[in-house]
Amino acid sequence: MKMKFVTFRGGIHPPEAKEATEHLKTEKAVEPTIVVIPMQQHIGAPCEPIVQAGEIVKVGQKIGEAQGFVSAPVHSSVSGIVKAVTDVPVATGNEALAVIIESDGKNEIDPSIKPKGDIEKLQPKEIVDAIKEAGIVGMGGATFPTHVKLSPPPEKNIDTIILNGAECEPYLTTDHRLMLEKPEEIVYGLKAMMKAVGVKKAYIGIENNKPDAIEVMLKAIEKEDEIKVVALQTKYPQGGEKQLIYAVTNKEVPSGGLPMEVGVIVSNVATAAQIALTIKTGMPLIERVATVTGKAIKNPKNILFKIGTPVNKLIEECGGYATTPGKLILGGPMMGNAQHTDEIPAVKGTSGILVFDQEQAKQPNPRNCIRCARCVEICPANLQPLYISENSLANRMEQAENYRALDCIECGSCSYVCPARRPLLPSIRVAKNQIIAKKREQKNNK
Ligand code: SF4
Ligand code: SF4
Repeated sequence: MKMKFVTFRGGIHPPEAKEATEHLKTEKAVEPTIVVIPMQQHIGAPCEPIVQAGEIVKVGQKIGEAQGFVSAPVHSSVSGIVKAVTDVPVATGNEALAVIIESDGKNEIDPSIKPKGDIEKLQPKEIVDAIKEAGIVGMGGATFPTHVKLSPPPEKNIDTIILNGAECEPYLTTDHRLMLEKPEEIVYGLKAMMKAVGVKKAYIGIENNKPDAIEVMLKAIEKEDEIKVVALQTKYPQGGEKQLIYAVTNKEVPSGGLPMEVGVIVSNVATAAQIALTIKTGMPLIERVATVTGKAIKNPKNILFKIGTPVNKLIEECGGYATTPGKLILGGPMMGNAQHTDEIPAVKGTSGILVFDQEQAKQPNPRNCIRCARCVEICPANLQPLYISENSLANRMEQAENYRALDCIECGSCSYVCPARRPLLPSIRVAKNQIIAKKREQKNNK
């Protein structure tokens, strides 16, 4: 079939580096002996633990209660005994409260886990409630609670859902494998989302470096008149929400606005598959797939793991380190978070565990900006990264804000192309954090 490949303005094409895992079937990780389940694995308020040391828990049992609407409960991924409820190091680089559970290896399912019924019969609110209770969050890595996305204010006229199957980050192949291995689940989950919001039009956007996934998903939607598969040009950050919306619908989300301003909700293919699982079986989000890869990993894999499995255990399952590791990143190389240690739990947002060798991890020294404007040409958010960065480094945050620092989607493309190796993204992040903190302070003082 001939397809037109759509895209957005700007962007880059870094080496894809997916060949180590893109053809490997997803493998199930061995049962962890210990899981460390943080109470905050989502954007929003952290959960309150509702179990104590010494308590017996089952698979799927709720162990952390959401606090407020923008929050998501957490559940046990194993059956066993709670060893402690305590602060542990997590992927943010800080410590956070977590429930530590020793697995009994029996995988006894909590009696509360029951199928939710057929989506044809479920009411929209019942679907949203099931998603909320299952602790489902954006599994592309953003971890925004999905029930919040599916509950737009009544004045917003949502008419389109776009499923993100772009997986534009180098190295990562979990969404690619999921589309090949569970296409029906993805479509079922998408239909549940459409019913929840009352939407009659949906797209699944897939980059054209995954022709097999495009083919499989086209087949999966053969009988679905309201769903289309859109082939996207392979370009980073094609999976960014605003970039994806523009590529698929030609609509531009206004500066500072959300996708709902243009009537669109964007979700990830993995989130859709989890929604299908929850509706069909009642099981909350207790496991997910991550790509464990990079030059310093002996046997890269796509691995289905239980939430809370320590990262070093998943690396061990991939044969361990092939060489002295230089850098560990959770997520992809462009937007993921560098880690100081592998003794942290893999969580709901862990789409990748990437380990560079020492050579790849080397950071060249930054030189003066040569005003080449390459960062401006490629910025997908239409910003002038050099000026935001300059103002941030000089602590002129108001000017950085005037240059629309808050519109930066933190894709890292500017840092990637800069011939002077300027620390563009890190300095822009500092500006964003300070501007947001100041706004919050001003709001609290009102
Ligand atoms: S300024 Fe932000 S959005 Fe623009 S290229 Fe840099 S990181 Fe990406
Ligand atoms: S790409 Fe680097 S050197 Fe070129 S204008 Fe931007 S900051 Fe300056």
